[in-house]
Amino acid sequence: MRKPIIAGNWKMYKTLKDGQELAVALRRELYKIENVDIVVCPPYTLLVTLADALEASNIAVGGQDLYWQDEGAFTGEVSPLMLKDAGCRYVIIGHSERRQFFGETNETVNNKIKASLKHGLTPIICVGENRQERESSNTFKVIESHIKGGLADISAEDILKTVIAYEPVWAIGTGLTATPEQAQEVHKFTRDLLKKMYQEEISSQIRIQYGGSVKPENITELMSKPDVDGALVGGASLKADTFTQIVVKASEVIK
Ligand code: PEP
Repeated sequence: MRKPIIAGNWKMYKTLKDGQELAVALRRELYKIENVDIVVCPPYTLLVTLADALEASNIAVGGQDLYWQDEGAFTGEVSPLMLKDAGCRYVIIGHSERRQFFGETNETVNNKIKASLKHGLTPIICVGENRQERESSNTFKVIESHIKGGLADISAEDILKTVIAYEPVWAIGTGLTATPEQAQEVHKFTRDLLKKMYQEEISSQIRIQYGGSVKPENITELMSKPDVDGALVGGASLKADTFTQIVVKASEVIK
């Protein structure tokens, strides 16, 4: 059995005060949840405060990106060492907004995954096709390139320490959600690919989240699919009420 994982990607939202209030509310609302891994990924400026606010709770903190060197003259970047130091256990890597606006490639994703694993951070590795790629029937081709490129030279032992997030770009922040069937189809394709790259024993243990306009209204149906092991949530993770409902509903899905 794979333990579900629900992560909130706060993107470039929340000041210190607002983020702290949200973290305190989530801690209060979700303290009883034991069967779901819960993660929040705020902007860098909030990491230390949130790690403090969520210390010894069932909610972990993650970064939204990193640079692969430990330190150096890389203005504006943050290293895995620094994320660990700030209290992070997770880090999102290869989010489509990084690929789209900041020149992220499969190669940089691969460097970042290796760096996060080296420092004991769990990478949440994002893959997914855009609208044009889906409409031209290239979804599987894109997923294969993101998975094979991003995971190049990652050992079987290390792949078990990662989480994959399938995020169709056309569903991110648009209100359009992949149907549970569409999500399942790509999750199954991804797991089958991982089976070829590693082994069934390994691929069957890797958690694959779905991301793209996840809300309290659609989490149950998505999570009911056999290969959907959780969600990466953007907009709906910014409010205590909606994120709490998503986590609670995920915790109630029995497969
Ligand atoms: C995301 O940014 O990873 C995401 C899935 O956003 P949203 O839930 O807002 O579509």
